[in-house]
Amino acid sequence: MDFNLNDEQKMLIQTLQTLGEREKFKERAAEIDRTGTFPADLMVRYAEMGLLGMTLSADHGGGGQPAINAILAIEELAKFSPMIAAPVFESNVGPVRVIDFFGTEEQKKAIIPGVCRGDLSVSVCMTEPEAGSDLTALKTKAVEDGDHYVVNGRKVFISGGGHASHYMVYTRFGDTPGYKGIGGLLIEKGTPGFTFGKQEDFLGLKGMPSCELIFEDVRVPKENCVIQAGDFGKLMLTFDIERCGNAAMCLGTAGGALRESIAYAQARQAFGRPICEFQAIQFMTVDMAMKLDAARLLVYRAACGAGQGLPSMYEASMGKCFANEMVIDVTNAAMQIFGGYGYSKEFPVERMLRDARAWGVAGGTVQMLRITLASVLYGRRFDQRRGK
Ligand SMILES: Cc1cc2nc3c(=O)[nH]c(=O)nc-3n(C[C@H](O)[C@H](O)[C@H](O)COP(=O)(O)OP(=O)(O)OC[C@H]3O[C@@H](n4cnc5c(N)ncnc54)[C@H](O)[C@@H]3O)c2cc1C
Repeated sequence: MDFNLNDEQKMLIQTLQTLGEREKFKERAAEIDRTGTFPADLMVRYAEMGLLGMTLSADHGGGGQPAINAILAIEELAKFSPMIAAPVFESNVGPVRVIDFFGTEEQKKAIIPGVCRGDLSVSVCMTEPEAGSDLTALKTKAVEDGDHYVVNGRKVFISGGGHASHYMVYTRFGDTPGYKGIGGLLIEKGTPGFTFGKQEDFLGLKGMPSCELIFEDVRVPKENCVIQAGDFGKLMLTFDIERCGNAAMCLGTAGGALRESIAYAQARQAFGRPICEFQAIQFMTVDMAMKLDAARLLVYRAACGAGQGLPSMYEASMGKCFANEMVIDVTNAAMQIFGGYGYSKEFPVERMLRDARAWGVAGGTVQMLRITLASVLYGRRFDQRRGK
């Protein structure tokens, strides 16, 4: 296994570091957290730099790069905050990948170039009030009516809700129960009958739009069907790349917290010495770095294994699960190193700990990931509903 970054990847990281310093991303991250405003201007900036859709197919205006490059970019930008990295996440590992892999030629032409320009974005819409971990219990339903589907249902906690131009809606087609009846339909903002509920007020990730979606007799042309009923597996396959992106957000936040902690521990004095000279602080710092590196290896393994395709479910789930728990430990330790100042909004580690808490729920909880991993290790499926 080769763990070395190539010249192109090293240059990507260097470019993003320089960008972050020049554009004062550290201050910007604090401002986004304070105002709760999505940094839409960054989409334009990133589009100019070729960061949007860098992994999407070159035939449709994407960069055609391997998944690991997007993971590296997300990680580097998320050192400032997940919101600074969000446009790169959305355009490379979000549901636009479903269109890139499985969409029709018309769907690809309609969506991918716009995503790469930063004009369009696509949200993933799975969760419902009574179907989160138990996704196959979802009730949103699409019923055929001539050359349209008529969609009714509700989705909750949809990241990008209200802001995104398009929504990849996991829906039941007809009455077939369980996963066999589920497919994916692309619904455009502004379609009559499609409205947004109030924005969520989360603990962290301030500035990330998130809300309920309401579908009341929404007529959607049949050509907007991206994944047919029965192909639910394809939706979940592409979701493994989103899991790597989620884990990259954790690597970034933890990396940012480690960077802040090392700088602070050298500047802060106690007992007439910088606190980095106390072994307790050194050991906490080393443990942070050790956990971060371990997570990084798992996540890079999953992303590298994907190449220009999709990662293995086992590797993506393991990387996400480990990184989700690692980032909470690391940001929590960072807050301790900062003492009282860590608990204050004057310093970034308070925000980092709040942001860190999201990832082990978003994109599948760490419990559900362990169920997936157990099914691989035991070589059998454990039906959670029947308990057999
Ligand atoms: C910041 C954030 C962003 C999100 N973005 C999106 C988005 O863009 N699109 C989208 O569709 N959804 C999104 N979600 C929703 C997220 O995917 C769900 O919250 C998640 O899947 C859990 O579902 P739930 O909240 O209904 O919890 P539940 O499914 O009710 O679970 C509650 C608890 O029970 C545990 N549990 C449930 N079943 C089992 C079991 N069989 N064994 C062991 N433990 C179990 C869970 O792990 C959890 O701890 C987001 C959530 C957050 C917090």
